[in-house]
Amino acid sequence: RLKEGRALAQDVWSIFNAANLPTDCINLGQGYMNFSPPQWIKDAAGEAMATVVGNHYSHPKGRPRLREAIKNYFSPTFGRELDVETEILVTSGANEGQYSVLTAFLEDGDEVIMFEPFFDQYLPSVVFNGGKPVYVPLHPDRSKSKPTSDDWKIDFEELRRAMNSRTKIIMLNTPHNPVGKVFTREELEKIAALAEEFNLIVMSDEVYDSLVFDGKEHVRFAMLPGMWDRTVTVQSAGKMFAATGWRIGWLIGPAWIIHPTLAATTRIVFCSNSPMQEAVAAGLEEASKRQFIEIQCSEYAERRKIISEGFDKLGMRYTLPEGTYFLLLDISNLKWPDNFPFPPSVEGRGRDFKACWFIAMEIGVSSIPVSEFYCEEHVSIGENYARFAFCKDTDTLRRAVERLQGLS
Ligand code: GLN
Repeated sequence: RLKEGRALAQDVWSIFNAANLPTDCINLGQGYMNFSPPQWIKDAAGEAMATVVGNHYSHPKGRPRLREAIKNYFSPTFGRELDVETEILVTSGANEGQYSVLTAFLEDGDEVIMFEPFFDQYLPSVVFNGGKPVYVPLHPDRSKSKPTSDDWKIDFEELRRAMNSRTKIIMLNTPHNPVGKVFTREELEKIAALAEEFNLIVMSDEVYDSLVFDGKEHVRFAMLPGMWDRTVTVQSAGKMFAATGWRIGWLIGPAWIIHPTLAATTRIVFCSNSPMQEAVAAGLEEASKRQFIEIQCSEYAERRKIISEGFDKLGMRYTLPEGTYFLLLDISNLKWPDNFPFPPSVEGRGRDFKACWFIAMEIGVSSIPVSEFYCEEHVSIGENYARFAFCKDTDTLRRAVERLQGLS
């Protein structure tokens, strides 16, 4: 299984890791913040560690306080009273949650639809669990000089042709990493009709659901008519509370999906990190009172403005994201000297790997090559883009933008 495709190849995060780049390189590569979660959330982890039970195993479903907090915060967004025993499962990050769903449901040879570009972990997670990835690209409108993430579209005929009796799961991601696309209700309804027709499970990765801009509506797939029963929604405390290293996420879905997934997660990690679960519970308990998500979202909108205006000034084409903290820069016209030295990990890869390496080395700003988010046959689409993460404080972004002017 591991020999298939790129599953055993070195992952992009370790190639474009700070350790391999110049020490003063500004990291707009791997998506994590250069600021901490708020003190009032961190304090709750300390309080948990000051107790005996806070340092020990949690229930594999998740700590009761956290499941209760998830129920209270998210039930209204699912239009139902979530059941803390059967419909919520705390996981060690969203990634482990998705992996556990795949472990629970895939039989050898089952097909899994994923839209390209896809978050890179999807591919090995499907392959390691015996599934067969089936790729359906989002098509960017390359004729637009100022495209937004909404200009990346699904060809629904193509999607339908990709489905057959072996299709079991569709992996959806809205808001989408790396494009920033927030799928419209109409698009999701068309996907829902196909999910119904082919009797599929929909894994709806909504980890960036608290980061949507310009008044755009985040539509929960599980909320579409008839979809609750076939959808598992994936969420992440890392994105919501600027705590990506805490590795706390959760799944919300019907009991028939959560129950076998709990069996998988119990055998993979047994339970998730206890003090951090308490901290995330405190975050959810307080978030509404403090308007934490609304304020954070407006801060991200400001960060998006700084980076997008920087590329405007340079006259470079990029996709303006409607959600997430990623922006795709079109690097198809970028040039570098013929004799520029690239390490072996970059040399054998798409043109975008070279472009990102060159930008990191010469300009001092790191980014992520987007062909990593495509299957091998479609590298030629992804290699036109570099992904810049703007989950950084405004001073850092301004410094990055200043350096990037050197690309002209
Ligand atoms: N979600 C993060 C990103 O896209 C990376 C997570 C990881 O490194 N696996 O940047």
